[in-house]
Amino acid sequence: MSTVEMKGEVHDSRVLQWARSIIEESPSHRLIQQEIVNAVNRNAIWRGEECLNLLAPEAPTTPIVRQLLASEVGTRAAEGHIGSTQRWFAGTKYIDEIEALCVELLKKVFHANFADHRLVASMIGNMTVYAALTQPGDTIMTIAQPFGGHSSNRVDGPAGIRGLQIVDVPMDPVELTVDLDGFAKVARQVRPKLVTLGASMTLFPFPLKEMAEIVKEWGGRIYFDGAHQLGLIGGGQFQDPLREGACVMTGSAGKTFSGPQSGIIVWNDPEFSVPITNAIFPALAATHQVNRVAALAAAAAEFLAFGKEYMAQIVTNAQALGKAFDERGIRVLCTHKGYTRTHQVILDVKEFGGGYEVGKRLAEANIITNKNLIPGDGPEDWDFPSGLRIGTTEVTRFGMKEKEMDTIADLIASVLSGNEKPEVVQSKVIELRRSFSKMQYCFPE
Ligand SMILES: *Cc1c(COP(=O)(O)O)cnc(C)c1O
Repeated sequence: MSTVEMKGEVHDSRVLQWARSIIEESPSHRLIQQEIVNAVNRNAIWRGEECLNLLAPEAPTTPIVRQLLASEVGTRAAEGHIGSTQRWFAGTKYIDEIEALCVELLKKVFHANFADHRLVASMIGNMTVYAALTQPGDTIMTIAQPFGGHSSNRVDGPAGIRGLQIVDVPMDPVELTVDLDGFAKVARQVRPKLVTLGASMTLFPFPLKEMAEIVKEWGGRIYFDGAHQLGLIGGGQFQDPLREGACVMTGSAGKTFSGPQSGIIVWNDPEFSVPITNAIFPALAATHQVNRVAALAAAAAEFLAFGKEYMAQIVTNAQALGKAFDERGIRVLCTHKGYTRTHQVILDVKEFGGGYEVGKRLAEANIITNKNLIPGDGPEDWDFPSGLRIGTTEVTRFGMKEKEMDTIADLIASVLSGNEKPEVVQSKVIELRRSFSKMQYCFPE
């Protein structure tokens, strides 16, 4: 089939062409709909049952969370704040109950005075914080991508859209944490209104207390973007940003927290309630998906019961995996610091062809990871960086422990070395997954 390139189309033209041919050649609209269901089912079997999903931003939600995502309440409109006088629409009495349970559960999990449940993505949380706490032209400091920084806090994301001047937080490329002396020097020069901590590639806690002391000198503040670490923080397995001096924290509900993909925001100071809440509604969220809110509340209840134990095992598994790679001669970042204190392990796979190439080969063996920029990579390495990021959230939820981390390291090592064909490794992966198919750290069905 010939592929027609379309001017201005950013997506892969071959894949779009495939979709057009399905749409044009199907004998009925109903069969087109069935094709969508088929693709969803193919994914559910492959990624859901036959893959080792080691993508750090993913987590498997429990059956009740998935059920609530498909619930009737997802068809209801409920703009505004909780309580009948603050809603535009009538008919929200039970929706108020769902949302109030969600808000109060989030406050409890994160020991926070205030929480909001209406962020349809953590990305919207970043935008909320910049809209609420900065003005266009203000200077902020954030972490650059090769050190784990995320686009949402850089010029190409919400921080850039807000028109902020962005200065890099100096990072130590060996310790993979903030260079505190460097930070003190730069920060005292540029006096940022806000310093954003948290990162997508994240191995160790940040010197948040010390940084908060420094920025206090000119009334600056720390914002913790805990997209990745949110579950670890709630489960008491990482630093506690709100207690160490961050004025606000956002996070992804669907990463380590293991709820429905969306965002969470928490803060303690009543002074922030009006600016933060106004930035959410009516600025960035209107109909905020009450089915998602219900699912989030259910995930938070599970988290209160099982979060601590679940999150502790995630970190134990990541450390075991780091050690297992190290023992097999694969370069792991921060071997001198015990590899990690989060759900992530970062490999330097330059000698095996780089993160893109290795990620592709592993996917052929049903092992799903992602390429990642690491210190030493420059802007020219964006598409083909040296690193590979691996996360242990999902395998942990399916009951894997330290012993299985050795098995995973063996499987990955055999693909990297080329000692075994991806098809051979693939069948071993499917077999391993078969023994770990029941979700743990949740209430019985
Ligand atoms: C993933 C991520 C985000 C965006 O979160 P979504 O829930 O995907 O919108 C923001 N900041 C950081 C540091 C992230 O890793």
